[in-house]
Amino acid sequence: MLHIVMYHYVRDLARTPYPRIKSMLLDDFERQVRALASEFEMATLESALDYVGGRYRPRRELCLLTFDDGLKEHYREVTPILHGLGIEGIFHIITGCLEEQVVAPVHQNHFLMALLAFEEYRAGFLRRLGELDPAARAQADTVKPETARQTYIWDTPEVASFKYFFNFLLNPSLGDVVVGEMFKYYIGSERDFARELYVSWEESRAMQAAGMRIGGHTHRHRPLASLPAEDGQSDLEISTALLHQHLEPQALWPFCYPYGKRESFPKEAPGWLEQLGYACAFTTEKGPNRPGEAAFLLRRVDCKQAPIAAGVEGAA
Ligand SMILES: [Zn+2]
Repeated sequence: MLHIVMYHYVRDLARTPYPRIKSMLLDDFERQVRALASEFEMATLESALDYVGGRYRPRRELCLLTFDDGLKEHYREVTPILHGLGIEGIFHIITGCLEEQVVAPVHQNHFLMALLAFEEYRAGFLRRLGELDPAARAQADTVKPETARQTYIWDTPEVASFKYFFNFLLNPSLGDVVVGEMFKYYIGSERDFARELYVSWEESRAMQAAGMRIGGHTHRHRPLASLPAEDGQSDLEISTALLHQHLEPQALWPFCYPYGKRESFPKEAPGWLEQLGYACAFTTEKGPNRPGEAAFLLRRVDCKQAPIAAGVEGAA
């Protein structure tokens, strides 16, 4: 089996200005990677795809590490750890964030939630949304708590419902406007924040030089299913062109769907990606992968549910 583990924030929270961000701690990360490496054969993108394609039979189960959103700590802390252990990490960057120094709305949302009390944030958000579009505001009350809980199992029911509304029900451009206004008001310049939050092109190239693989994650980080087909395709074309323009050549380019649930991207998306030259695509559908798996529908597990969970291995 091939276990593909998915990471987002990996940081020493106590030493950051936003200690309430939902993150894996750096020490836990390093412990988890060492434990995984002793239990599994750590895959490269190449060996993982060979396995799925039936061309490679490893003696042990495989484990591949993936990191989403091109966060600065992936360059600063994660890459040196993986490089030191001789492990190839796969890093999916949001090209718009590097190129235009904007903060993706999903991250604006994380940092506002880390800064404000949840009720204050939710109330402020829904008030402003109600002024802009009362019908959209009313949708917030239609979220089924059970569905939200299944998607965001690590959050309280209230937070899960709000995140579900924000990420799956709300018209993304409307949500972007409200969150953008709140971000500017409470946090400040998006440009300065983006420079500190995301890797730069130069840092991405340094990661490649350290044996890491960079992958696509769209230009705008919108769920592809929420866009008209031509907008989705053009976002992918822009993003792919930027990757090739700014980065070193790679034999294999991976892709990762924003949000990543099966319903977050249209069924045509794998075909678009294949045409653009990608070798595979990662979803956030849970579970291991076996030979014969569709290369553009690869399943992953969150780092908290990895075959060896963080902080658990010492207790066993
Ligand atoms: Zn993402």
